[in-house]
Amino acid sequence: MTSIPCSAAPAVSGEPTPLPHAPADTLGPPVLDEMQLVSQLLAQLGRGAVPRLDWSDVRRRATPWVNAVRAHPPAFWAMESLLQEYPISSAEGLALMRLAEALLRVPDTATAIALTADQLGRADFAGHPDGSGHPVLSGLADQAIVWSRKLLPGDGADPAGLLQRLGAQTVVKATVRAIQLLGRQFVLGESIESALQRGHGSPRAGQALHSYDMLGEGARTDADAQRYLQAYRHALEAISASLPGGRASAPEAADGISIKLSALDPRYEAARTDLVAERLLPRVWTLVDAAARANLNLTLDAEESDRLEVSLQVLDALMRRVAAEHPQWGGLGLAVQAYQLRATCTVDAVVRQARARGVRLMVRLVKGAYWDSEVKRAQELGLSGYPVFTEKDHTDLSYLVCAQALLAAQDVVYPQFATHNAATIAALLEMARTTGARFEMQRLHGMGEGVYAQVMQAEAAPPLRVYAPVGRHRDLLAYLVRRLLENGANSSFVHQLADPGTGLDTLLRSPLAPRAHMKLPLPSHLYGSARANARGIDLAVAAQRLPLLQALTRKSDRTVPDVTPAQAAAAMDRLHAAQPAWAATPLAERCAVLRRTASALESDLPHLVALLAHEGGKTLGDGVAEVREAVDFCRYYAEQAERLLAPQVLPGPTGEHNELRLHGRGVFVCISPWNFPLAIFTGQVVAALVTGNTVAAKPAEQTPASARALVERLVQAGLPPDTIALLPGRGETVGTTLVGHRHCAGVCFTGSTAVARTIARTLAAQDGPIVPLIAETGGLNAMVVDSSALPEQVIDAVVTSAFRSAGQRCSALRLLCVHEGIADDLLEMLAGALRELRLGVPAQPDESWSVDVGPVIDAEAHAHLSRHLQRLEHDARLIARAPLPAALQSTHIAPVAFELARVGDLKEELFGPILHVVRWTGGVDTLVDEINALGYGLTLGVHTRIDERAQRIAARARVGNVYINRNMIGAVVGVQPFGGEGLSGTGPKAGGPHYLLRLCGEQTVTVNTAAAGGNAALLAGHS
Ligand SMILES: Cc1cc2nc3c(=O)[nH]c(=O)nc-3n(C[C@H](O)[C@H](O)[C@H](O)COP(=O)(O)OP(=O)(O)OC[C@H]3O[C@@H](n4cnc5c(N)ncnc54)[C@H](O)[C@@H]3O)c2cc1C
Repeated sequence: MTSIPCSAAPAVSGEPTPLPHAPADTLGPPVLDEMQLVSQLLAQLGRGAVPRLDWSDVRRRATPWVNAVRAHPPAFWAMESLLQEYPISSAEGLALMRLAEALLRVPDTATAIALTADQLGRADFAGHPDGSGHPVLSGLADQAIVWSRKLLPGDGADPAGLLQRLGAQTVVKATVRAIQLLGRQFVLGESIESALQRGHGSPRAGQALHSYDMLGEGARTDADAQRYLQAYRHALEAISASLPGGRASAPEAADGISIKLSALDPRYEAARTDLVAERLLPRVWTLVDAAARANLNLTLDAEESDRLEVSLQVLDALMRRVAAEHPQWGGLGLAVQAYQLRATCTVDAVVRQARARGVRLMVRLVKGAYWDSEVKRAQELGLSGYPVFTEKDHTDLSYLVCAQALLAAQDVVYPQFATHNAATIAALLEMARTTGARFEMQRLHGMGEGVYAQVMQAEAAPPLRVYAPVGRHRDLLAYLVRRLLENGANSSFVHQLADPGTGLDTLLRSPLAPRAHMKLPLPSHLYGSARANARGIDLAVAAQRLPLLQALTRKSDRTVPDVTPAQAAAAMDRLHAAQPAWAATPLAERCAVLRRTASALESDLPHLVALLAHEGGKTLGDGVAEVREAVDFCRYYAEQAERLLAPQVLPGPTGEHNELRLHGRGVFVCISPWNFPLAIFTGQVVAALVTGNTVAAKPAEQTPASARALVERLVQAGLPPDTIALLPGRGETVGTTLVGHRHCAGVCFTGSTAVARTIARTLAAQDGPIVPLIAETGGLNAMVVDSSALPEQVIDAVVTSAFRSAGQRCSALRLLCVHEGIADDLLEMLAGALRELRLGVPAQPDESWSVDVGPVIDAEAHAHLSRHLQRLEHDARLIARAPLPAALQSTHIAPVAFELARVGDLKEELFGPILHVVRWTGGVDTLVDEINALGYGLTLGVHTRIDERAQRIAARARVGNVYINRNMIGAVVGVQPFGGEGLSGTGPKAGGPHYLLRLCGEQTVTVNTAAAGGNAALLAGHS
């Protein structure tokens, strides 16, 4: 047992039905102080029965292994060789990876040719200095890839004659063959039968056991999950059929399987513990039961850190049933990731739980395969730190401390150490040397063979098990790419072993003397020292979620009375009078007000999220993101103002001083919408204020309380009250009064194109000065998907883009354009994913966290969307609709997808969860032209593995924000400045570097410095 403090997280009441017994309660928060934890880990190592490590012994043990592997390099297709020939940082490595990931799934020749040409065109596979050609790929494909570059036309190029086309197809076929051969090195078999045969029939049969995995992407639909379940079930049957009497003598002595819970349920996530209990658990149990009957090892793979707690809950539920129904069986297993800061606490929790249940477990210790995505998630969410170690040595150290705890828990654990790192293996053998503990080593198929060939020669070497992926190559190559990425990193042992330039000192470095400083900046420092990233929370952590749920239950007064047009006009006069004083306030003080406001918003996050849920129907996730956006606006515009508004000295003739100064224009009218009642409102208002304008702020009729929340905080932060007026009311009355007022010096408007036109006309009709209008309006936003895209990634992006926030975002996806070649399969997956969505009321604490889609904003919107749906029922083909509970019929619109015949059939922006789909074929340029012809130009999504095509589409599309291979919503201030062109708005982009300038007047001041007595500087010898 370790003594790392693993504090208990408070239980959260009012959540979905919890899974029985949650050992995860003892894990504590996922983010901790890394350096402090490292000191604790160091102190922990060598306690108890396991001897203290002397790293010189470790080196002594590992050095001959490394030397032997380097003296006899592995076969050319081994991961080590591939990485040496084609490091992923090289064009060739990247091309290889892209082709491996995508080519086999492309159904149509044209796209396959374009993809091959695109990737091979970037690389130089024949580029060996000695001109010998490349041994790996030329060996694999009979020089095909080398020829490809010469023969293939570029994407969109004129097909250059029949001969060349024939040549291109031949080359693509050869490339496909090459990739299949490559896949064979990392995938043991396309079926479990062939994998068993290959595994047992290899020259080394009998030396290694296997753990088979039916790999693929996680399930996105229930049908996917059923397919995976069937594949796992079949694998267990096949393994047990291969054993005498259908049963192993012991799980440690036979092949087993590894399963991913995410493959068995599309909603395997902490927010849906209800479904995990009702649907996933029974499925897993059928597998566990079958494994127990055959006495085989079944291991739950470790996945993302936000699933750790729910995975332990599943494990605990399984253990209870195993204890009751298969008390003799010791084959249930799980993988634990050492890179998680909670790794040692996880080991402790699992050991404790196994003892409590009286069940023996097989625990596979890994370092962790999702490091880059864990880091990205933490940065995107603005978490206080990372849930994973950020230094490789720290992961290695944590691995050893976890190993020590597992070795010491022999009464309930059979440790399985999975690593390819010779130093880690040597350290484990040193640690276990005197303990007599039983354990096994594990490696991945296609990796680490050389090192283990050495390790296994030792006397009393532990057993070895190989993790062996099984399935169709086209599905598994994404897995290969994952492994390439993971092991191709400079810090990876496999990469360093393959690199002859890495000396033993580096390769076998001790993790017991870690660096004092960490290199990776914390998520809060993502934007450097200029501004802090808005602080977020991790909803998957109960202790962080709790304050939000509590805030939902608190009563707050959300009534904000409308003002009359006369009151609005009087406010304009007051704001006009107050503007000079505010403009004269030092810029530093104006910026300080914004920064103090940002901090106040951050501190009040629970209250504001609750307000957004009650007033705007926002889900918790959307609410947190919105508050963070508001915070980012305040800090970003403060930083921009300091940069842009400082007087600039301009070049000119000697004897003259020229200076450009920016100043507020007067009273800005800010009219904001209900769909981002806090964030958009904040963006407009603080931009206008920081540039020295006073602000007449008219929030949407539906959401004035969210706007008031900002105004109150601005004033508390030191904004003089007469510089801003909150003027709720109807657009036709209050809005018109403000825009038409003689003191209106400019308008920021976000809303419909029709209202923007009305405002423009009102302004044009004024006799006074011509004032600027910044209008952000809607969009008929499209996503172009070609046949090289990964369907699961597309579905994730589509569901998020079209249905999150009930489709009530300007950026939301309205028109999905799918290549004909993959349309049937993709739309089937979309239908399945729609059926998984849960509609609900985000303001209800007991369901809030698990709601995917909330209500539409009001009855008027509901009626409008319903009318459109009636038309679609006649004019389009229904693809699928999410289930709509009867109680929500009058407030919610069920997310739905309809297929249209052509792009031009979409006429009108519908602000709701309604997705239109068209199929396309032929040239992508024509499709982009049709999208452009819709006249809007806000967001565009692109999903393709053909880089040149993605860039070509982006260049041709007349839109403001293009998102490639991801969702197309959630623009981040200062990162993806937001706003479009055409019918979508005037620009400049909100949250971008040009926004503030539009709110300013400009003045140059020229001083003739030679006027009084001549040019002293020139005479003194200076220009
Ligand atoms: C049999 C087997 C089963 C596996 N099952 C799983 C599983 O269920 N779930 C899973 O997540 N992984 C799994 N893996 C993958 C495993 O997590 C490792 O990614 C992989 O084995 C490489 O680790 P290594 O010890 O071989 O190599 P090493 O090169 O020693 O370690 C590489 C690991 O260090 C970590 N790392 C890299 N850079 C840093 C950094 N800057 N800071 C902190 N840490 C860093 C990464 O996690 C990386 O994977 C499995 C591996 C094997 C062999």
